[in-house]
Amino acid sequence: MNRIVPVQKNDYIDVVFEDLTHDGAGVAKVDGYPLFVPNGLPGEKAKVKVIKANKGYGFGRLMELYENSPYRVEIESSDTHKYGGCQLEHISYDGQLKFKENQVRQVLARIGKLEDVLVHPILGMENPWHYRNKAQVPVGEKDGKLIAGFFKQRSHEIVDTDESLIQIPEVNEAVQTVKEICNELGIPAYQEESHKGVLRHIMARYGKKTGELMVVVITRTADIPQKNKLVEEIVARLPKVKSIVHNVNSKRTNVILGEKTNVLWGNEVIYDYIGDVKFAISALSFYQINPDQTKVLYEKALEYADLNGEETVIDAYCGIGTISLFLAQKARKVFGVEIVPEAIEDAKRNAELNGITNAEFAVGEAEAVIPKWYKEGNAADVLVVDPPRKGCDEALLQTIIEMKPKKVVYVSCNPATLARDLRILEDGGYKTVEVQPVDMFPQTTHCEAVAKIVLKEEAEA
Ligand code: SAH
Repeated sequence: MNRIVPVQKNDYIDVVFEDLTHDGAGVAKVDGYPLFVPNGLPGEKAKVKVIKANKGYGFGRLMELYENSPYRVEIESSDTHKYGGCQLEHISYDGQLKFKENQVRQVLARIGKLEDVLVHPILGMENPWHYRNKAQVPVGEKDGKLIAGFFKQRSHEIVDTDESLIQIPEVNEAVQTVKEICNELGIPAYQEESHKGVLRHIMARYGKKTGELMVVVITRTADIPQKNKLVEEIVARLPKVKSIVHNVNSKRTNVILGEKTNVLWGNEVIYDYIGDVKFAISALSFYQINPDQTKVLYEKALEYADLNGEETVIDAYCGIGTISLFLAQKARKVFGVEIVPEAIEDAKRNAELNGITNAEFAVGEAEAVIPKWYKEGNAADVLVVDPPRKGCDEALLQTIIEMKPKKVVYVSCNPATLARDLRILEDGGYKTVEVQPVDMFPQTTHCEAVAKIVLKEEAEA
């Protein structure tokens, strides 16, 4: 069908927003033709300028609001909204939670064909600000001074930023202080275009439970000018610092961390707790960025696993063993699998740190290692998966279907791939019993959920 596009670039039109996309843009329909407009909220009437008119859909810019949604709130900081990943900052927290919960319901029905599955009300935060325990901030130069903050969208221009509303104050303070010290010491910023200069990124990570701070200075050069003075000043001005790490990234790349890491001062790791489990976190390890909600999420995963102490559990995509060690407290044995070797080193160290002896960890692709275990006669009673955004590999899902663990607990950071994978498991003999959305990333469009899946024969027994 060759539909006529009802709008043209640079047109000004009046619209009513009907919906939100998964990345938080308003959706208006002009004679059925969808127009995506950042910042528009369902129910709002607005004047919009057409920026782009493709064949099947277009993009617009919000010019004037005639009527506000009850969910619209005044934005405190436009920098974090525009550049800092806080795409939902203009929506009240109630509205954000509703949006995410709806999104989970909608994709489960649309992609997973799971219209009747029980989706619980989303678990949100009491205070949805200042929750991030980590920042990694690009450094640049403006008018002879160091600046650090966000990249402007689709560009490499840095906007100097004093604070991010979603970072823990200690993390904001650490970044600002290190920026100031480097400015005073005249340490030059890295220049992307010429690939010259020194300081590329400042990273800070904070153990919320322990109050331990890690500062990572990422440079192009193997040496940092005024290194000793830099360390001395950081220690003097940031009393919570327990670890100062230097990472060298000499490549022309967008990847933040380079290969060489050495400790300049203090410990190689900082510690933090999720629930009662203690974690050592090194500069390069993945660690959940919202520790309060991580506890909520893992407790739900543990509840869904419903362990009695007799089970063998596999934790696929285990990272540094966070979920595995939670499960190990209630299971006979836990096997964790993860693709990043350093994370597995951390996982083993974390097991030791907590005196947990019934957890074993292996490096490799979940979709290769778990089928191999199964062929060798090692099956699991309960399987937990926590894959990256692209979801589980098909080969892993097929192995689950053959292995028939009684229960599968699926922790997901992308409702669309969750829904896709649940459909595959349903067709392979499983039933999705319930789904619990958890808001791990307030103010952003990211949406986390955990699903409880059981063998149909078990569900009916
Ligand atoms: N469960 C952990 C980590 C979840 S993030 C936690 O809650 O902290 C997803 C993890 O999957 C990452 O650590 C990533 O390195 C790992 N990963 C990605 N692809 C993988 C694969 N094919 N096999 C195993 N692990 C993989």
